[in-house]
Amino acid sequence: MNKPKMATEKGVPSNSKIAMLLCQLEKMNEEVLVRDVETARLVTAKILHLIQTQERSGKEVMSKGSSGMEVILSSLENSRDVQTTLNIMSILSELLTVGRGRRVGVFVSKGGTGVLFQILISASKELPPSEELMFQLHSLLAKVGPKDRKFGVKARLSGALNVTVDVVKQNLQNSKVLLPCLQVLRIYSNNSVNAISLGKTGMVEIIFKIVGPYSKKNTSLFKVALDALGALLKSKTNARRAVDSGHVPVLLALYLDWHRNDTRHRCMLIRKGLLVCLRNITNIKLGRRAFLEADGIRILYHSSTECLPVRTLDPLINTSSLIMRKCFPKNRLPVPTIKSAFHFQLPQVPPGGPVDQLYNQLSGVDDVVDESDDDEEAEGETDTENDEDKDQCSLNDDIETDLNKLHPNRNIGRPFEELKDYQKFFSELSEDFQGYSFDFSKSASTTSPSTYLFSSSSARFSRPAEVPTAQTPSPKQIPDSQNVCTSVKEHQTLSSPFLACSQTPLDLDTIHLSKNKEKQEGINIPAPDRRTAPTSISTSLSQGHMIEQELSHPLEGVSLEDKGNQNAEAGSEKVKHEGSPVNNLRHFQPPLLLGGFPIRRTGGGGSNVGSDCGSEGTEDEAGDAPLLEVPDTAQLLPLHDPDLYVEMVKGTQSVPQYAEVAYPDYFGHIAPMLKEPLLERIYGVQRSKIFQDIERLIHPNDILDKVVYDIDHPSSMIEENGESLKFNSQFESGNLRKAIQVRKYEYDLVLNADINSNHYHQWFYFEVSGMRTGTGYRFNIINCEKSNSQFNYGMQPLMYSVQEAIGGKPQWVRTGTDICYYKNHFARSSVATGGQKGKSYYTLTFTVTFIHKDDVCYFAYHYPYTYSTLKMHLSKLEDMRTPQIYLRQDVLCETLSGNTCPLLTITAMPESKSTDHICQFRNRPFIFLSARVHPGETNASWVMKGTLEFLMGTSPLAVNLREAYIFKIVPMLNPDGVVNGNHRCSLSGEDLNRQWQNPDPELHPTIYHTKSLLQYLAYIQRAPLVFCDYHGHSRKKNVFMYGCSVKETVWQSDISATSSDLQEDLGYRTLPKILSQIAPAFSLASSSFVVERSKESTARVVVWREIGVKRSYTMESTLCGCDQGKYKGLQISTRELEEMGAQFCVAMLRLKRLTSLRNHQNLLDLESDIIGTQSKNVSSCTTTYVLEEDEPSFLEAIDYSAESNDEDAEPESDVCGDGQENFDQLSDSETIHRK
Ligand SMILES: [Zn+2]
Repeated sequence: MNKPKMATEKGVPSNSKIAMLLCQLEKMNEEVLVRDVETARLVTAKILHLIQTQERSGKEVMSKGSSGMEVILSSLENSRDVQTTLNIMSILSELLTVGRGRRVGVFVSKGGTGVLFQILISASKELPPSEELMFQLHSLLAKVGPKDRKFGVKARLSGALNVTVDVVKQNLQNSKVLLPCLQVLRIYSNNSVNAISLGKTGMVEIIFKIVGPYSKKNTSLFKVALDALGALLKSKTNARRAVDSGHVPVLLALYLDWHRNDTRHRCMLIRKGLLVCLRNITNIKLGRRAFLEADGIRILYHSSTECLPVRTLDPLINTSSLIMRKCFPKNRLPVPTIKSAFHFQLPQVPPGGPVDQLYNQLSGVDDVVDESDDDEEAEGETDTENDEDKDQCSLNDDIETDLNKLHPNRNIGRPFEELKDYQKFFSELSEDFQGYSFDFSKSASTTSPSTYLFSSSSARFSRPAEVPTAQTPSPKQIPDSQNVCTSVKEHQTLSSPFLACSQTPLDLDTIHLSKNKEKQEGINIPAPDRRTAPTSISTSLSQGHMIEQELSHPLEGVSLEDKGNQNAEAGSEKVKHEGSPVNNLRHFQPPLLLGGFPIRRTGGGGSNVGSDCGSEGTEDEAGDAPLLEVPDTAQLLPLHDPDLYVEMVKGTQSVPQYAEVAYPDYFGHIAPMLKEPLLERIYGVQRSKIFQDIERLIHPNDILDKVVYDIDHPSSMIEENGESLKFNSQFESGNLRKAIQVRKYEYDLVLNADINSNHYHQWFYFEVSGMRTGTGYRFNIINCEKSNSQFNYGMQPLMYSVQEAIGGKPQWVRTGTDICYYKNHFARSSVATGGQKGKSYYTLTFTVTFIHKDDVCYFAYHYPYTYSTLKMHLSKLEDMRTPQIYLRQDVLCETLSGNTCPLLTITAMPESKSTDHICQFRNRPFIFLSARVHPGETNASWVMKGTLEFLMGTSPLAVNLREAYIFKIVPMLNPDGVVNGNHRCSLSGEDLNRQWQNPDPELHPTIYHTKSLLQYLAYIQRAPLVFCDYHGHSRKKNVFMYGCSVKETVWQSDISATSSDLQEDLGYRTLPKILSQIAPAFSLASSSFVVERSKESTARVVVWREIGVKRSYTMESTLCGCDQGKYKGLQISTRELEEMGAQFCVAMLRLKRLTSLRNHQNLLDLESDIIGTQSKNVSSCTTTYVLEEDEPSFLEAIDYSAESNDEDAEPESDVCGDGQENFDQLSDSETIHRK
C-alpha cells in the first residue's frame, strides 16, 4: 500500500484532534524502523476513544476527500502488535457500524477486505491464535462481506476459507467465536465453488452438530448456523451429502420440534432456517425422494395449516408451500395424447416440419409424459465461477446485430410475372368509373364496386393460389336460406361422431326466428328465473353511444306459479307476447326451455342433423315448447344480426365439423357500461389454492376424479344427474378437451392443443350448464403453457350468462374470484417443450358463483370473436356504405380448410370522373392493415372492428380519411385457426407470423398472398405509407407498438456502426407518438423499435426489410387492462378496443397532415420533439428495448423450480447483523422467475 497523506478535502491538514492523531499514525507507518509499540497503542486507543465518543470524528475520517481510511488500513497492515491491531479493528468496527452501506463500500473500495484476510492468515499462524483477534476479525468480515462482490473469491484465493473452517472446528463449544465465524461461512458459501470446497472439509456435518432441538438458549447461534447450512446446501454435492447421511428426516423432526415448542413464535427465524435447508436439499431429486419417504408433505401440510391463523408465520407457510409443490409427485396429464384431438390432413407435409415430426413419432409412444424421468439429473457441478450477470446477456441476445440485415434491402426477390395477377386486387388503380353516376344526391348506384363475399353459394376456388378476382362488381346477394340449408345439409351429413351425443346449445337445423319486423322502442324482457324473480325485469341495454332510455321500457310481467306448470303455460305466454304492444322480440324456439331456460337436446343428433333445417316439421314440434325470448341485439348492435350470424356459420368450415352455435356469438355482445377494475389480488390466494391441490395427495379419498366431458371418448360424457356440471365447447372457437370433476364443486379442465400440434394451449372458450346457485365452483385449467399470465395481475376471465342475456344483458363480463396462475404438478413432456425435460404445466384457477339456476354460461380467455362474426360484420358493413364510399370486398384466397380470406379496399369515391379526380383517387397513398394472425388474440379483431366501423362512418374525419388514403385490409389472417379454437397456429401446425420470409403458397396461403399484395405494391412503386398488423399481448398492459429502427437496435447492442449506418428517417416514431397523444389506452413507453432476431420472419420485420415500409408495425393490445392514462386500473373491454381501432384511424389523419408538405413545420416540430427525447435516451442510457413482461413482482412466489437450481430466494446482501429482519422479509417476497 502506498503511503497516504492524511489531509482534508482541500489538501490542508485539519486542526482537529482526530486529524492530528491520524497524522501521527501516518508518520508511524512511515517510520517502520523506529516504531514504538506503546505509542502505537496509545494513538490508536485515543482514536478509538474519539470515535466512540464524538460522532463528528467518525464523520471526519469517513468524509469525502479524507484519506483517513487509507491511513487506518495502512496501519492495520503494518501492525505487528496484537493490541494495536485490536484497537484498529475496534476503530473500524465503530466506523463501519454507522452509515451502513456507504462506509462499508468505502472500506471495500480501499482494499479493506484483502487486508482483513491477510491479517487472518497471519493471525492463524500464531499458536494458539488469539481468540479475541479471531472474534474481531470474523465480526468485521461478517459486516463487510455482503458488500464485497468478490468476497468469496478473495477468501478462497487468500486461504482465509480454511482458516475460518479451522477456527470453527476449534471453537465448537465457544459460541462467542463460533457465531461470527458461521456468519462469515454463510457469506463464503454464496460462491458455489466455496460451498463445494467447504462441504469437502466436513462443514455440513459439523453444522448439523451445532443445531439441535428446541431450546431457549443459543437461539442466535442456531439461527446463524442454519443460515450457513442453508447456504451450503445450495450446492447439489452438499445436498446429496446431507441426504446420504440421513439428514432429511432429521431436519423434519427438528422443524416439528420447534414448531411444537415455539408456541409464542419467538423463534420464527430458526423455523424458517430449517425450512430453507429443506428447500435447498429438495432441489435435487434425491432430496425430494427422501422428503417424500420421510412423510414430509404431511408434516409440512399439517404444520402449515396450524400456522395459518397467525399472519406473522406467513414466511413459514410460504416456504413450506414451496417445498411441498416441489416435492409433489409429477402427475400425468389425463389425456391419451397431447396431440390435438383433431387432425387435419394437409395437402403436403414438409419433411422434418412440425407436422411430420408430430405424426411420425413411433406408434405406441406415449407423448404425454417422458419415457423415463427417473435418472438422477446430471449433477455435475462446475468448479468455475458464475459471477457474471447472465440476465444481461440473455436480454440482449435476441437483438439483431447484423448490420446488413438491419438495412432494408427492398429486394422483392420475385419476377413481376409472378405478381402481375395481383393487379386484380387493385382495380381502384385502373378503374375509370365510366358509366358510374356521380350524382350522390340520388340513391346508391348499382355500379358501385362491391362484392358480397360470403353468400353461402360462394364459389369454391380451386387451389393452389388461384386467386379469384373481384373486378366485376356484382350487386349484393342476399343469401337464400334454401340454398344455405342445402349446403349445410351436405356438409353435415359428413359430420363427426361427436354429434351423436352432442349437447346442442343451438342447433343450426332447428333455429327458427320469427321476428316482428315492426321496430318498436320497448324491449320485452321476461324474468329469467321466474322463481326468484316473479315480475319481469326491465333492463337497459346500452352500447357506447346508444341511448339506453330509449331502448328500455317497463313491461308486463310474465309470471308462472310453479315450475311444473311452465310447459303448459308456455303457449299462452307466447300468445300473450304476440298480442302485446311490445313486439320487439325474437321468438326463438328450440332449444327447449325449462324454468324459462333452454335445455339442450341430447341424443337424436343424427336425425336432427339429417333433418331439413327450417322445415315446417321442426317448427310444429317447437310449437309446444316455451319460447326463449331474447332482445333484438340486431337493433342494438349496428353490425350484429343473429339471423345473419347463423347463415354465416353455415358457410364456415371447421375441422371437427361443428354444427352448433354458441349463444354469445348468436346473441351478440353489448359492452357493459360498468367500469371493470383490475381485480385486486388478495394475499394468500395462490397459497390456499395450492394447499387445496396438496390435499388431493393427503386425502385421496375425497377426490371424485369423474370425467364429465371428453372429446377423445365422447361416450364417457355423462348424462345429466344434477351432481355435475355439464360442459361443452363443440362450437366455433371452442377448445375444451376434457373436464374432470375433482371435488363436488371443483373441476380440472384440459384444453385441446392447436390442430396438427401438441401444444400452444392458452386460449379457452367453453360452455357450462347444470349449475347450482350460491356455491363457488372452482375451475382449474391445468395445461396452460406460458410461465406467467396477466391473470396474476388483475385480469379476470370472461363469462356470458344466457339468463342475463335473456334478462336484457347480452354481454361478456369479467368474472371470477380467487384467480391465480401458477406452475402445477402435471408433467410436461419434452416432446412439447423442445426437448427440455422436467417441465410442468401451469394452472389457471378461478372461482365462480353462479347467480342463476339452470343457466347456460360461457367462459372465455378473452372476448370471443369468431370467423363467422367477422363475416357477419363484413356483410353488415356493406349496409353502411354510402355512395361516397368506395368499398370493395375481395376474396384474397382460400385457407387450407376452404374458408375464404377476405380482403377489403376502402377509400372515397372520386369526386367525379374527371381526369383530375380519377388521378387524385388513384394516387392516394395506401395504408395496409391486417389482424388476427394469432387466433387466441381476439382483442386484435375487436380493434379491427373499431377501425372498420370508423372507416365506414359518416364523420367528417372518416370522410377526410377516405379521401386521403386507400385502405387495404386483411382483417383475419388466420381464419382456420380462429374457427377451430387454436391459440397460436394455423392448420399447418405453425405460427403464421413466423412464415413471412418464405410463406408456402399451399401451407400458408393467407400469408403468401398478403405478402404478394405488398410485393405487388412495391413493384409498382406504391408501397404503403403504413403497414400495421394488429395483435394481442398476454403479458403486458396497455396498447403499444413494435416498430423497426436501425438506430435503436444498434443502441441496444454493442455493435459498432458508422454514423452513415445510422442515418435514419425518424418517421417510424411519428405514428406511435401521435397515438400516445390521442389514444388513452396507448403507451409509448411500452413500445419498442428494436429488431430482434427471433422476429425476423414476422410481418413487421419482413414488410420493413423486404417491402421497404419504414412505418411497419405490430400493434399489441393488452388482454388485461391499463396501468396508465384514462383507463388506468381498469380491465379492457371491447369498447376500449374498438375505440383504439377508431383512434388508429384518427392518427392516420394526423400523420397525413404531418407528412404533407403544406404542414412541413408541424412535422419538424414533432420530429425535433422526438429527437429531443431520443438524445435524452442516449445520454441517460435508458432503453426502449422492452422486456417480454414488465410487471412488478408481488408478494407470493409464483414459480417453484424443481428443475432449476433455485438460486433465487435470498438476496446475497443484508444477510447478517442488523440486516437480519430485512433479509427475512426479502426472502419471503421471492421474485417471479422470468424465463
Ligand atoms: Zn400475436
